[in-house]
Amino acid sequence: MSLNFLEWDCPSCGKHNREDTNTWCYGTPIRHCRHCDGEYLDRRWREVAVEGFDPRSTNSSLYLKGCIGFALFAAVMALWIVWSIRTKGYYMMLNAFCVGLGVLASIACFVLWIRIRTGAEAKNQAPYMEESMQRMQDPAYVQKLISYGYQVPDTFRK
Ligand SMILES: [Zn+2]
Repeated sequence: MSLNFLEWDCPSCGKHNREDTNTWCYGTPIRHCRHCDGEYLDRRWREVAVEGFDPRSTNSSLYLKGCIGFALFAAVMALWIVWSIRTKGYYMMLNAFCVGLGVLASIACFVLWIRIRTGAEAKNQAPYMEESMQRMQDPAYVQKLISYGYQVPDTFRK
């Protein structure tokens, strides 16, 4: 089971669906129900050839801020522990837990920051763009998007 998933109730049969996604929900917004195979538009999915990549996946400064922010949080919690031990002789497990969480989140942000800065993340995203471009080459697919009221730029209309 993936950490990233979307859930919905099918508009035709009403049954519950749950689908794993990549981190930024890249994929066709035309989805099918597992139960009745009904088709509909789900705008939570991102057709990257049309909409571009999620800004959060290319904005490195966001993760630098996150990295610093979580590190500060961990530092404050660590100082709290030191203060608590000095004045009361004990500390709360919750504080230690917060330090660990802050450090982990900080490292995760740092890794993403590096990945975006070095272009590794863009490389990782390239296949999604290729797939999306391929879908958009198909006039029947483009027509279907338009019929669902999806905004398709003129460059893809033939
Ligand atoms: Zn259905």
